[in-house]
Amino acid sequence: MCGIFGIEGHEEAANLSYYGLYALQHRGQESAGVLSWDGGRLHVERGMGHVRDVFDETTLARLRGFRSVGHTRYSTSGNSVIANAQPVVVKTCMGPLGIVHNGNLVNAAEIRERLESEGSIFQTTSDTEVILHLMARNPRRNIVESLMVALSQVRGAYSLLLLSDSCLIAARDPHGFRPLLMGRVQGKPCFASESCAFDLLEAKEERELGLGEVVVARGEEVESYQLREAEDPARCLFEQVYFARPDSNVFGDVVSEARLRMGARLAREAPADADMVVPVPDSGLFAALGYSRESGLPFEFGLIRNHYIGRTFIQPKQSIRDFGVKVKLNAVRGLLEGRRVVLVDDSIVRGTTSRKIVRMVREAGAAEVHMRIPSPPTRWPCHYGIDTPDRDELIAANQTVEEIRQHIDADSLDYLSLDGILNCANGPADSYCTACWTGEYRVGVGSGGRDQEEMFPIRMESED
Ligand code: AMP
Repeated sequence: MCGIFGIEGHEEAANLSYYGLYALQHRGQESAGVLSWDGGRLHVERGMGHVRDVFDETTLARLRGFRSVGHTRYSTSGNSVIANAQPVVVKTCMGPLGIVHNGNLVNAAEIRERLESEGSIFQTTSDTEVILHLMARNPRRNIVESLMVALSQVRGAYSLLLLSDSCLIAARDPHGFRPLLMGRVQGKPCFASESCAFDLLEAKEERELGLGEVVVARGEEVESYQLREAEDPARCLFEQVYFARPDSNVFGDVVSEARLRMGARLAREAPADADMVVPVPDSGLFAALGYSRESGLPFEFGLIRNHYIGRTFIQPKQSIRDFGVKVKLNAVRGLLEGRRVVLVDDSIVRGTTSRKIVRMVREAGAAEVHMRIPSPPTRWPCHYGIDTPDRDELIAANQTVEEIRQHIDADSLDYLSLDGILNCANGPADSYCTACWTGEYRVGVGSGGRDQEEMFPIRMESED
């Protein structure tokens, strides 16, 4: 769970990365960082917390240059510490390199073990650094070739940007688990996890990177290479359910539209005898709207979210009390009192939030609470970049839907079916990764890398 942004050949490169990261803040709130290259030196600024916590005018003024990458991080691999904040920057015999990565490499631990046993010293515990070590081990005159040889050895999910002294490179894994788009700001090539970053910068979106595609940007020139034959697509459908911003276009589909379809389908699959539909903000908003439109039940803002909880929020000590979910959400008694409520949230992970929210809605006077989830039960952990707990903490891995209903104390509970959600996606059913619902992992965890020969880079096309 991370957001990445990059821009090539623009005199305001770092500033644009900073604004791009603002639009991608929802993809990671643990740390943020921007790296720039001014033709002679790298400049980097990283810190824990939100983009607003890390940068100010002074730090941004320091980030000179015409090439830049930025990152917002939510750790799925490695600890949440400043050493793991990205961009990761190293000096190699090929010159300075910086990398930002969204995804999760499933064989990073074994590669790291091998490299460490051969003498490598890692600066971080994040899986991303493995790619830089593999590059440093396989120096080539051509940096693109070095990256492609490194990528031939890693498996799993990666949408990444690599900054060097000669170019900016974007790469997407052959299954395309995570999104990555390219566009242009004032004619200069730029890359982002989601289109909402392009909207903010008034960048023109050109296209999504292909599966296994590597794009090299130098000035206004862009060249495309192919890692190897694209493999079966495995786009993460949880991006559409929860992770991406609703105003973004992800995998060729507008996220808000996908969520509306999921909510409408849920209303058909699991109707409820109720008076109103209430979203859990913000994650349940569009699915609840879809449910409301399809069912004809009014859509009401029965829960209000506090948007101002930042890094500095101090958890109250037990001596005061556990405010729990109330710090983030509060119920609107006037709307809920005596009413039968359909409550819509995108997913149930551990079940703790849902339980607290149902209780809050009941305490505000609701007569009945019918929980509806516009995705199938989350039964399996994600190995490809979404932060999910181990199976023993996933409530649906260990309990039936009826047991979960009892646990969260709802009058009824229903999830959208797997067929239902695949029907709401705009691509063929087998082009999505559904491992968190089905346990069908497209890339095995911990398996070895590929032969380097298999991956010798092939120049595919050139455009300006
Ligand atoms: P819980 O069931 O208490 O674990 O939390 C469910 C809530 O967490 C829902 O409101 C979801 O929007 C949200 N959620 C779902 N997936 C994730 C995730 N990977 N990381 C953080 N929050 C999530």
